[in-house]
Amino acid sequence: MSAAAKPVVTRFAPSPTGYLHIGGGRTALFNWLYARGRGGKFLLRIEDTDRERSTPEATEAILQGLRWLGLDWDGEAVSQFERKDRHAEVAHQMLGRGTAYKCFSTQEEIAAYRAAQEAAGASYAVFQSPWRDVAPADYPDLPYVIRMKAPRDGETVIDDQVQGRVVIQNATLDDMIVLRSDGTPTYMLAVVVDDHDMGVTHVIRGDDHLNNAARQQMVYDAMGWDIPVWAHIPLIHGPDGKKLSKRHGATAVGDYQAQGYPAAGMRNYLTRLGWAHGNDEFFTSAQAMEWFDLGGIGRSPARLDFKKLENICGQHIAAADDAALLHELEAYLVAAHRDLLTDAQRDLLSRAMYCVKDRAKTFPELLEKAHFALISRPVVADEAAAAALDTVSRGILKSLTPRLQTGSWTKETLEPILTEIAAAHGIGFGKLAAPLRAALAGRTATPSVYDMMLVIGRDETIARLEDAAG
Ligand code: GLU
Repeated sequence: MSAAAKPVVTRFAPSPTGYLHIGGGRTALFNWLYARGRGGKFLLRIEDTDRERSTPEATEAILQGLRWLGLDWDGEAVSQFERKDRHAEVAHQMLGRGTAYKCFSTQEEIAAYRAAQEAAGASYAVFQSPWRDVAPADYPDLPYVIRMKAPRDGETVIDDQVQGRVVIQNATLDDMIVLRSDGTPTYMLAVVVDDHDMGVTHVIRGDDHLNNAARQQMVYDAMGWDIPVWAHIPLIHGPDGKKLSKRHGATAVGDYQAQGYPAAGMRNYLTRLGWAHGNDEFFTSAQAMEWFDLGGIGRSPARLDFKKLENICGQHIAAADDAALLHELEAYLVAAHRDLLTDAQRDLLSRAMYCVKDRAKTFPELLEKAHFALISRPVVADEAAAAALDTVSRGILKSLTPRLQTGSWTKETLEPILTEIAAAHGIGFGKLAAPLRAALAGRTATPSVYDMMLVIGRDETIARLEDAAG
């Protein structure tokens, strides 16, 4: 059975040496979408073999980033380090198959070989071990590494779903070490053994691993295993087309959470970053799962576009279910170390959601629009709003409050009252709205006056107007 015909299994294989980079987040997302859209499995493997640089904190930060993005994985995350005995076992199996050999060359011998090659003008100094063709019966009892018997002639072809047919001259591939003299496996071996044992059918990862694919393919061949479908995706660049760095803005997935981008918007944006489905920009995760395919991945690096990210996030906030949005907003407050909502604030915010979620691109923007629902009396007006509360305006507010005491509290009943008050003072409704905004929210940019009045209710409205009228 060819790899492509098996049920799809993808994986994300981060090295836990830092935070979850936005590029890693996108790689995980592509793997998740590809598997989920095909009823397949999405697995997680922590590549923690570098004991010096791998930390539990980094692993936790990566898991946390994936959870925030909503990328759930199947089963337990696999620790690569814990599988080291299995890796060693495979290295020894290769010896048995005659596709690898023990090499007893010392560091000095290898250095001398290289120096001689360079002196002879070789363009690349691929070490050719004298032990390659020695019969195992003749092996000495000395420390050794296990090396692969790499093909010396011909070429290796990577049939990549994104990069196309990539040809590597075998002469450039050395007899790479798969097991070190201390018995620990090398990265190149561990990745292949793990992908094989985990049943991975599709390897979707950054194109910085394209060269590794040629060497990894050698391991598959040496063991007679099916080669997975390769898809090496171009990296993400900054808006200026240069390699993404902190200078461009946030590079950690967690930073986007802390800045208040909604996860659904982030997912949508990252899906579009380097992958296209016609002209569709805004879509749900269900649509993305249905549409995502390897053929839609572009070959050139995608550029991060913060405007587009904000635009898409705004659309997701506007389209979100109110209760779900409130829930996510509270998670944002925790992530951003901001003050949490009191029960009263949560209640008011949930009532205000319908009129604040439009046109907010991030949670901080949404909170700014919802300011009127989160504050308590006395309302402190900012400078611009305070300017609208002059003596005349305060007089108008004073004449308004008695009119609000009775009657039903709906836009239909409030509208004629406000229109009438404005007319009685010879001003347009716009002129009346400014002091009302100042009194109710202490801001100049707010939801509509009616929405604010309806959300905070009659008593609070009258109290705030009376406070402002003085
Ligand atoms: N651990 C590698 C990395 O973080 C990924 C290896 C792979 O996907 O094959 O770049």
